[in-house]
Amino acid sequence: MPIASVNPATGETLETFEPLDADGVETRVARAATAFAAYRTTGFAERAALLRAAADLLEAERDDTARTMTLEMGKPVGQAAAEVDKCVKTMRWFAERGAALLADERIDTADTADAGAEAAVARYRPLGPVLAVMPWNFPLWQVVRFAAPALMAGNTALLKHASNVPRTALLLERLFARAGYPQGCFQTLLVASDAIEAVIRDPRVVAVTLTGSEAAGRSVAAIAADEVKKSVLELGGSDPFLVLPSADVARAAKVAVTARVQNNGQSCIAAKRFIVHEQVYEAFAAAFVEGMAALRVGDPLRQGTDVGPLSTESGRADLEELVDDALRRGAKAQCGGQRPAGLDAGWYYEPTVLTGITPEMRIHREECFGPVATLYRVASLAEAVQLANGTPFGLSSSAWTTDRAEQLVLERDLEAGGVFFNGMTASHPALPFGGVKRSGFGRELSGHGIREFCNVTTLWYG
Ligand code: NAP
Repeated sequence: MPIASVNPATGETLETFEPLDADGVETRVARAATAFAAYRTTGFAERAALLRAAADLLEAERDDTARTMTLEMGKPVGQAAAEVDKCVKTMRWFAERGAALLADERIDTADTADAGAEAAVARYRPLGPVLAVMPWNFPLWQVVRFAAPALMAGNTALLKHASNVPRTALLLERLFARAGYPQGCFQTLLVASDAIEAVIRDPRVVAVTLTGSEAAGRSVAAIAADEVKKSVLELGGSDPFLVLPSADVARAAKVAVTARVQNNGQSCIAAKRFIVHEQVYEAFAAAFVEGMAALRVGDPLRQGTDVGPLSTESGRADLEELVDDALRRGAKAQCGGQRPAGLDAGWYYEPTVLTGITPEMRIHREECFGPVATLYRVASLAEAVQLANGTPFGLSSSAWTTDRAEQLVLERDLEAGGVFFNGMTASHPALPFGGVKRSGFGRELSGHGIREFCNVTTLWYG
C-alpha cells in the first residue's frame, strides 16, 4: 500500500509520501537509542511536564487536528474532536498518576527475612525504545494510549502508523517535538509494513506493541518471540451486546445504535453481534432497526453527520462481501444492505441490520468492520452466553441486565477482556484495556498498561 493521505469522502489523493529508506530508518532507530540513554534518567516530574505540554498543544489545536483525521480517514468531525479531547485527558491522566502507578513496591521484610534481606523493593524501570505498529481507525487515540504511558515510564517510542494516515502520524511526531521532548523520544517511521521485521530484529529496539488485525499481530509477535522480545497485541473483536429481560430496552436500543456505528462502524470494541432474549426481542429489534435506519450518512466534515464513509475502498469491499455472503445464504436486511444512493464519490455504506444469521455465514464468525449489525434471538441466558463466546475473538462485551444473579454468571462466563453492564464498552485511561483469545494479549491504559513496558527490577538489600 503506498503511503498516502486519501480522502475517503471523495477518493481524492491529498498527498503522497516517500517511504524512508534503510538509512532513514537507521538514523531514527539510532536516535531512539541515544535519546533513551538520557531520557531514562529523568524523573517523573520532568516527564510529566513534557506530557502536559504536549496535552496543552493538542488541546489548543483541537479543531485542526480533528480535521486532519477526518480528511484522511473519514470519521465524523465531531467524533474526531472528541478523540482529541480523550487524548488530552489521557496525557494529563498519565502525567498526574504516572509516578504513583510506577512507585516502588516495598516488599514486607517479614516475607524476606528468610532470604536474608533487610529490605527488598520492586522497582519499575523503563525498557528502552519500543516500536508501536498502529491502525488508522483512531489514528490519534491508538498512538496516545500507547505513547503517554510509555513516555511516562521513561521509554522512547518509534511509531509505524498505518499507511493511510501519514498526516496524523507526522502531526504526532511534530507535537511531541514541539512540546519539548528531546530529539529521538518520539519518532514516526514512514515505512511500509515489510520494513517492520528489520526494526523488530534491531537489537536497540526492545519491545513491540501492535494494534491491528490478527494477521499483522501474528506476524509481528512471531518475529518478536524469535528475538525473545516482549510484545503486546490489541487485535480484532466481534463484541457481543446482550439484552436480557430485565434491561431498559429503550435505552439499550438507543445505545446499541451508537455502539455499532461509532467511528463509522470501524472500532475494535464496537458492539457487532446483538444477542437478544426472546422476551424483549420484538421491542428491541423494532427500536434498534428504527434507530439504525434514521442515521444521517454523508460528508464527515458536516456537523450533524452520524456516519461517514469507510476509511478505504478495500474496507468497503470487504464489508460488502460479508453482507452479500450472508444475504446469499438467507439472511434478511431489516435496513440497509447496500451503498446509499447519491453518495457515489466516497466509500459509503448504509447502516445495516441483518437477521436470520446462521453459522455457515462468514459474518457469524468474522469481524465486521463497518456499520453492519447482526441481530440474534435467544431463549435463555445460557444460550446467550454460548453464542457470545462462540467466536475466535474475546475483546470486550456489553450486557444489559439488572438481575444480579445474571450479572454474576456473565462476570464469570463471558470470554472477554471486559464486561460492561448496562452501558457501552468504551476505553478510558483508568480502565485496563485488552482482550483474550484471538483479540490479543497484554493490556493498555491504567496501571496495567503503564507497567507493560517496564523492567520490574528486584532490589535486595542485605
Ligand atoms: P492492519 O492491516 O493489521 O494494520 C494495522 C497496522 O499494522 C498498520 O500500521 C499496518 O501497516 C500494519 N501491518 C499490517 N500488516 C503487517 C505485517 N504483516 N507486519 C507488520 N505490520 C503490519 O489492520 P487494519 O485491518 O487496517 O485495522 C483494523 C483492525 O485493527 C481490526 O481488526 C480492528 O479490530 C483492529 N483494531 C484493534 C484494536 C484493539 O485495541 N484491540 C483497536 C483498533 C483496531 P500498513 O497500513 O502499512 O499495512
